[in-house]
Amino acid sequence: MSAGMVIVGAGECGARAAFALREEGYDGPVTLVGDEPHPPYERPPLSKERLAPGGMAAAPKPIAEPARFREAGIHLLLSQPVASIDRAARRVCLADGTRLSYETLLLATGARPRRLPLADGIAHALYLRTHDDATKLASRLGAVSSVAIVGGGFVGLELAAAARGRGLDVTVIEAQSRLLARAVPQDMSEHVLALHRRHGVRVLTGATIAAVADTPDGVALELGDGTRLECGLAVIGVGAVPHTELAEAAGLACDNGILVDDHLRTDDPAILAAGDCCSFPLALYGGRRVRLEAWRNAQEQGALAARNMLGRREAHAFVPWFWSDQFDATLQIAGLSDEASETVRRPVGEDGFILFHLDGDGRLVAASGIGVGNVVARDIRLAEMLIARRAAPPPAALAAPETKLKTLLAA
Ligand SMILES: Cc1cc2nc3c(=O)[nH]c(=O)nc-3n(C[C@H](O)[C@H](O)[C@H](O)COP(=O)(O)OP(=O)(O)OC[C@H]3O[C@@H](n4cnc5c(N)ncnc54)[C@H](O)[C@@H]3O)c2cc1C
Repeated sequence: MSAGMVIVGAGECGARAAFALREEGYDGPVTLVGDEPHPPYERPPLSKERLAPGGMAAAPKPIAEPARFREAGIHLLLSQPVASIDRAARRVCLADGTRLSYETLLLATGARPRRLPLADGIAHALYLRTHDDATKLASRLGAVSSVAIVGGGFVGLELAAAARGRGLDVTVIEAQSRLLARAVPQDMSEHVLALHRRHGVRVLTGATIAAVADTPDGVALELGDGTRLECGLAVIGVGAVPHTELAEAAGLACDNGILVDDHLRTDDPAILAAGDCCSFPLALYGGRRVRLEAWRNAQEQGALAARNMLGRREAHAFVPWFWSDQFDATLQIAGLSDEASETVRRPVGEDGFILFHLDGDGRLVAASGIGVGNVVARDIRLAEMLIARRAAPPPAALAAPETKLKTLLAA
């Protein structure tokens, strides 16, 4: 019998890959190994509805019910960190000493929060990545009246909105001169800043942390300019780092993620990597290497990795897409905006807008939109299709709300 497929990391990407192997007709052994105690669950709710009062009462939102794994013949091993890979013998070794042979191995090990060394050992400083982190955080949020959030990225801002929803005093401390500086253009940062201020969040930009200390009532933060801030709790949201230790110890090339080609293969043909843990060349952007931390990417790459584990030679050809919910607004981004040389703004709904980003040849390379509820979703979806086609729509047509993007697709 074949040694089968082994997937390390029972998150969004690993679970998707396991099901995709079956959907593609693979009938050999499939083993999905995860180090968390829970069956694969969705992470996005952890910084959103799960932090509302009562939101953590339930079990994590499953990616698939446990019965579906059984029915699909996917062997799910939980609370089992994979400790090493023996590439010569094509075996992984679990922390408890169990060895698993593989025909092809997928690393879908995800990422973990970047630590703020100043907060090491501080009892009232928490991080958020897992269901267990969220359970602890939700319980602590219920016991304090104020929270400081270090980092004005997506997770930090979603947390700020959730904490305001609980009526807490919220301060966001961001080192850059604007919120979401690495992800969205200035206009969008300003809109998000206004949104948070309107809802009573105190936002400090260009503010660094000089010291963190526990106090009898919570935590004290000293800022770079000498300001002292005391609150019940601090949450650190300063980005994520990929889980590459396993790959590095096995001699696989890594550089801000496990390096893979456009088929998601590492430099060992029997090992692929996908999801938040991998750095891959994005064909649509001239093969530029990126590492994405995005839910849909984890799903798409999981399914693509599964097809390539079965010997297909399918190249990555997706447009990156990301969403974030903050208060009543949803933000969506398709593509990568940082290479754009021109930006065109289209108003959407009462207060929303979409920014279309064009490169030097007039091609649409990204679109970022924000608005109440799902108001930008349809146009972002159409923009994504234009980006995939490398279309160069007239900027005036993109800016005019009366021009239906569908007509630009047909052109
Ligand atoms: C709080 C939060 C909110 C988010 N919100 C959004 C959002 O609104 N929109 C969006 O697009 N994306 C969002 N994301 C990002 C999205 O959830 C991730 O991109 C996605 O979960 C990545 O999936 P993954 O499977 O690659 O990694 P993960 O989900 O991190 O799963 C990897 C798994 O592998 C395990 N693992 C690691 N090493 C080992 C080992 N050696 N042995 C065994 N297991 C191991 C990890 O513990 C983990 O369980 C959010 C993420 C977080 C944390």
